[in-house]
Order: sequence, then C-alpha cells, then structure tokens
Amino acid sequence: MKHESSNKLWQDALQVLPGGVNSPVRAFKSVGGSPFFVHSGKGAFLTDADGNRVIDYVLSWGPLAAGHAHPEVVEAVKSAADNGFGFGVPTELETLLARKIITHYPSMERVRFVNSGTEATMSAIRLARGFTKRDLIVKMDGCYHGHGDSMLVRAGSGIATLALPDSPGVPAVLSAQTLVVPYNDPEAITEVFNHYGADIACVIVEPVAGNMGVVPPLPGYLERLRALTVTYGALLVFDEVMTGFRVALGGAQAHYEITPDLTTLGKVIGGGMPVGAYGGPADIMDMLAPRGPVYQAGTLSGNPMAMTAGLKTLEILERPGVFDDMERRMTGLCSGLGDIAREAGVPVYQTQAGTMAGLFFTEMPVHDYTNAKLSDTKRYAKWFHGMLDRGVYFAPSQFEAAFISTAHDDDVLSSTLEAARAAMKTDI
Ligand SMILES: *Cc1c(COP(=O)(O)O)cnc(C)c1O
Repeated sequence: MKHESSNKLWQDALQVLPGGVNSPVRAFKSVGGSPFFVHSGKGAFLTDADGNRVIDYVLSWGPLAAGHAHPEVVEAVKSAADNGFGFGVPTELETLLARKIITHYPSMERVRFVNSGTEATMSAIRLARGFTKRDLIVKMDGCYHGHGDSMLVRAGSGIATLALPDSPGVPAVLSAQTLVVPYNDPEAITEVFNHYGADIACVIVEPVAGNMGVVPPLPGYLERLRALTVTYGALLVFDEVMTGFRVALGGAQAHYEITPDLTTLGKVIGGGMPVGAYGGPADIMDMLAPRGPVYQAGTLSGNPMAMTAGLKTLEILERPGVFDDMERRMTGLCSGLGDIAREAGVPVYQTQAGTMAGLFFTEMPVHDYTNAKLSDTKRYAKWFHGMLDRGVYFAPSQFEAAFISTAHDDDVLSSTLEAARAAMKTDI
C-alpha cells in the first residue's frame, strides 16, 4: 500500500493541531505508526488519501450504523441543507427525532438534544444533582462518559474512596465529588452506598461497557445497581451513548429489561452528525430550564441537518429484519475470528453485544477494567497493523469496540476473515 499522501498530510497536521489530531485515539499512539487520512467513505469502506480502500469496523467510533454516506441519509441531509443550516428556533425535526427515540426508550418521556455524548453526560449529571439536591456521583473504573471534569477521574486507593483527577486541569475538589468502583463488582458498589448512600446523587454506568473493549454486565449486576439506587433515593443513569441502537434498538435497557432514571444517547442517533441527547421521566426532565431551575442550553442543539441524519439513520435501522440481520452478521464475524485465532494458537477472549464486539488478546475472561488491562496490547498492535495492511481497519486500540453497519454484507465479512486468517498466521 502507498502512504505518501497520508504521510505528507500527517506532517502538515502536526504543524497546526496538537498531536496532529482533534481527538487523541486518532493518533494511533497505542498501536504505533501514523494515521491514514480519509478521502471518502462509502458503505463499509473508507478510501484514504493515497487511494487505498479499507473495510471499516470503526465507523466513526460507532455512529455510522447505516454505513458511510448511505444514499438515503445523504439525500435527506442535502434537502435539509437546502432549507437552511439552522435557526436557533424550533423545527418539527426535533420533535420527530425525540418521538422516535421515546418509542424505543420508554424510560425517556422527555428528551433534550445536545451536540455530543460528553455534553449529554455532563448535563445529565447536573440534572441528577439538581433533582436530588446531592453532590456525590458514582462511576465505574474503565467506563468512559466523555471528557467532562467530573468524569475524568480515577480511583483513589481503597475501595470506597473519593476519586483523584485523571488529567491535569481537573480540580481535586471536583474529582473528590466522584466515587469510582470496579465495574461488575456488586460488593464494591454496595459498600459505597453503605458509606455514602445519603449523599449520592446518581450512579452513571455504561450498561454494557464499551470503552474498555466490550464488556457485558454479569448477571444480576444492573439489577443490583437499580435496587441500590432505589433504596437510597439516588438516580440511575445509563450512559447509552455507545450502546443505544447498538446493543438493541432499545439499547441495553431493553435487552436487560432494566429501567434507568436517566439515559444519555449520542453516536448512532446523529447518524454521523454531532448529536447527543439525554432524557428520563417528565418530573425529572421538567427540572430543566426553561421549565425548571437547572440550567442547560446550546446554540446549535437540535440542528436540523443533524436531526435529519439521525432520523433517517434510525428509520433505516427500524426496517423489518435490518437490526437482527446486522446482529447475526456480527455473530458470524465473531465466530469466524474465534475459529481463526484458535487455529493459529492465538489466545483471545471474545465479547459481543448486538452490533458491537470485543476481541481481547488474553486467555482470561474479561469482566472489568483490571482484567481488560491484562490483555497483550503488543499483540493487539500487531493484529491491528496486520489487518490494516490487508485492507481491514479495526480500532487503533485494544480497548475500543468493533462496530458493523448495514453495509457489511457477506462479501465484506468473508474478505475480513480471509485477511484475518493471513494476519493471525503470519503477523502475530
Ligand atoms: C463516545 C462516548 C461518550 C462521549 O461522546 P462524545 O460524543 O465523544 O463526547 C460518552 N459516553 C460513552 C459511553 C461513549 O461511548
């Protein structure tokens, strides 16, 4: 493969963007090498600046459930653009997308749109604090909820301690308002509630973790979170920014039949455009301005082109058989990759939740971040480059999910498995 153009563009980017990128994982730091630059995307494929075509399992980090530049989505966005880019005045599109979301997420009686997943979680946490009149929040180690100050924290020492900043610039006084417990550990969260229960505003969790690789909840775990929050009068926030319209159309809450108080969405609901949302029961959501006292606003929130991309993408996913077919293909891909790894004698631990999947280079089961981190990241890097050299792009980090779209058909899957067979045999 030629890389001259990408390499040149990378050198240019490094001159003007910190680290050459606008989001850290794009810099390929954990797998080595330098990123390719994209010229265009179509269906399951990306074409880079040198004209190389690769199968894409990153899909803009999840949003493109209908694939790149789906003709119907493109058409809809073009005609929305013809009507104007945005008004800062209501349009019917916001109501239509909210209704579509509510249909699949009955726990959300009211929806507020924002522009990113980060904004959704930050706002949901403010609302939870405003509603409960409490300050402490609980998150799970290895779950990612965007880069808001309160979420960019790591566990202190000991199980029920206040968190420490996980980035310079996060004030310790703020991180001390967050408690961090291991994911999938019912004892740890119970202990935290025993100590701090009366002061906890909310527990925020990825109901299927997707930012430590894909790690589904163990049986009974989400039920425990629900029961504890009810007992102590705290809110349960499901961060379904990744799992929404991925684990199931109705997200992890539909799949596991747990009703959270608040839900955050992003990624797929924007169909590739910048959209986030949060929602819950009317009495909680009515605490938001202009109805109530909890302030949150956005100049571009509910943007008509973004709403249109989301609406059309969800409409495509809702068609009979479409989601089930994607999920079935993901199952086929996972089992194919598992067979190939076994034949090559490469130990892997695999996970799947709907249309997202994880491939950990470890023999140990992965149920939390501590286990996930035992994966052989050097081996992952070899796998990543071995696949990319053969025209298949998986995430440039062991701790990210693989996603498929409606455009990943049988030909795409069999090309992927062919590449995997060669990569596992020769590169790892
Ligand atoms: C991607 C993600 C976010 C952050 O969304 P952005 O749009 O990148 O700000 C938050 N929570 C989860 C679970 C995510 O996967």
